[in-house]
Amino acid sequence: MQLIPLPAFSDNYIWLLKDQQRLLAVDPGEGTAVLDWMAAHPGVLLDTILVTHHHADHTGGLAELVQATGAQVYGPALEKLPVAHTPVTQGDVIAWGPLAWQVLDVPGHTLGHVAFWAHPQGQAPLLFCGDTLFSAGCGRLFEGTPDQMLASLNQLSALPEDTRVCCAHEYTLSNLKFALTVEPGNAQLQAYAAQCQERRQQSLPTLPVALSTERAINPFLRSRQSSVRQSIQQHWPEDSDDVSAFAALRQWKNEFQ
Ligand SMILES: [Zn+2]
Repeated sequence: MQLIPLPAFSDNYIWLLKDQQRLLAVDPGEGTAVLDWMAAHPGVLLDTILVTHHHADHTGGLAELVQATGAQVYGPALEKLPVAHTPVTQGDVIAWGPLAWQVLDVPGHTLGHVAFWAHPQGQAPLLFCGDTLFSAGCGRLFEGTPDQMLASLNQLSALPEDTRVCCAHEYTLSNLKFALTVEPGNAQLQAYAAQCQERRQQSLPTLPVALSTERAINPFLRSRQSSVRQSIQQHWPEDSDDVSAFAALRQWKNEFQ
């Protein structure tokens, strides 16, 4: 099984997964990039599209791709998409070839946001998490509450640590600037930042990233750690419990230049 991050717009990835001659696409914000890829790989057929949430940069290509391929679209039960879709929610399983995609509800960025996790045989598991978890960061809270987002990130963080995290944006370097401000003494974070800088200099994606790495470096998965907590408290002294500390961290990031 082959995983392909297809760049779209300025910093999106449309994730493709190829199993023999079958193709699955995730969050196609535009159709042309996917159709061009298919034209370069004759015989490969797009039959399934997974959608994490309703934003246009994740759904803009749906109509064109469905019309061109007849692919079946699975997306959040709570959100409207530009094409008819099979609504999915926590606990649902989508069979695709040898894979069983588990659907997770991860509200926060949007209220109906879902994520998809599966474990290909002989490979590390895959997570398509849209705009919920980014490398060294997390999505903005456009619709949900800090409470919801923290619970969603906790659910993702509890997946097997070798899970390959496939985020929908290449935001890693800018997230790392903030992460290093929050946790300047985190040696693993420093090493990861150097590695990501090198990859971007060579125009390579920083993704996918192992969940074990995110647990070690992502401040939004580490808001209970004393190092992160102390840093939040210097900035927002009023934080007290886990949710308000997380809310303060997200607010700090929003204002971070
Ligand atoms: Zn979004």
